[in-house]
Amino acid sequence: MTHIGFIGLGNMGLPMATNLVAAGHQVSGFDLSAAALTSFAASGGIAASSAIDAVIDADIVITMLPAGKHVEAVYCGADGLIQAAKPGTLFLDSSTIDVDTARKVTQIATDAGMLMMDTPVSGGVAAAAAGTLTFMCGGADEAFAKAKTALDIVGGNIIHAGKSGTGQAAKICNNMMLGIQMISVCEAFAMADALGLERQKLFDISSAASGQCWSLTTYCPVPDIIPTTPANNDYKPGFAVAMMLKDLRLAADAAEAMGVDTQIGQKAKQLYEAMSLQGMDAMDFSGYFEFLTKNKNKEI
Ligand code: NAD
Repeated sequence: MTHIGFIGLGNMGLPMATNLVAAGHQVSGFDLSAAALTSFAASGGIAASSAIDAVIDADIVITMLPAGKHVEAVYCGADGLIQAAKPGTLFLDSSTIDVDTARKVTQIATDAGMLMMDTPVSGGVAAAAAGTLTFMCGGADEAFAKAKTALDIVGGNIIHAGKSGTGQAAKICNNMMLGIQMISVCEAFAMADALGLERQKLFDISSAASGQCWSLTTYCPVPDIIPTTPANNDYKPGFAVAMMLKDLRLAADAAEAMGVDTQIGQKAKQLYEAMSLQGMDAMDFSGYFEFLTKNKNKEI
C-alpha cells in the first residue's frame, strides 16, 4: 500500500483518486471545494484539512488543477507542497499547463530533493472513471519507474515522452491536431450535404480512405452515424469547447514563444473562439458542425 496525496478533486481528479482508493492505497485528498471533499470521503478517501495536510506523509503526490497559476501556487512558496512533503516524495502534475511552468516547478522540486514529472492526460471524465486514461509523462527515468506504480491504476497507456516538460508538449501537440481534425471533418460533412452526398456514404468511404482520423471514426460530429457520440446527445460534452480552447491557446502561446509557424492551429483557435463568443463554450467541441450549420452563409 502506498500513501498518496491527491490535490484537486474536480471532474477528473475525483474519479482518479477514487480509483486509487479502490485499488487499496491510502489516499489523502484535498480540494478547495467542500462538496468535492465530501464526495471523496464518501468513496473511502481521507479528506485532508489542507493541501499540506494531504501530502505531509505521502510517498507520491498527484495534482489535478485547472491551470499553470494554480499549479505554481500550490507547489511553490513558503506554504507550498514542496516545502511540506518529505524528501524524495514523487510529485506528478496531471493538470494541463504550459511547458514553462511545468519545467520551472519541476526544477524547484528537484532542487529541494524531490522527484517530479509532468503527467497530463488524454481521455476525459469517462476514461478517468474507467481507469483508462493515457498519461504523457515528462521527466527523469527514476521518476517514471516510480510513477508507473500509481499511474497503471488510473491509466490504460502510460508513455514516457522524454525530459521534463515533454508530457505537456505532447498534450498540446496532440490536442492541436485534434482541434484541427475535428474542424476538417465538420467542414467535409457540410460539403457533402451541399453536394448531395449522403453522410453515411461519406463516413463509409472516408473511414476506409485517406481522410480517416479519430474525429471521424470514433467521435463523428454528425448525428445518426455512431450512437455513443455527443452528436447524438445534443452535443453535451464530452470535451467542451472551453477545454479545447484552453489547449489551443497553450499551443498558440508555445508556438509563438518558440517561433514555430502553426497557421492552421491558430485558425482553429480563432474558430473555437467564435463558437465561444456565440455562447457555445459548454458544448462539446464536435458541436462545431452545429456552429457551421447555424452560421451558414454568414461571415464567421
Ligand atoms: P475541475 O475544474 O473540475 O477540477 C479542478 C479542481 O481543482 C476543482 O475541484 C477546484 O476546486 C480544485 N482546485 C483549484 N485550486 C485548488 C487549490 N489551490 N487547492 C486545492 N484544489 C484546488 O477541472 P477538471 O475537468 O477536473 O480538469 C483538471 C485538469 O485536467 C485541467 O488542467 C484540465 O485541462 C485537464 N483535463 C481535463 C479533461 C476533462 O475532460 N475534464 C481532460 C483532459 C485534461
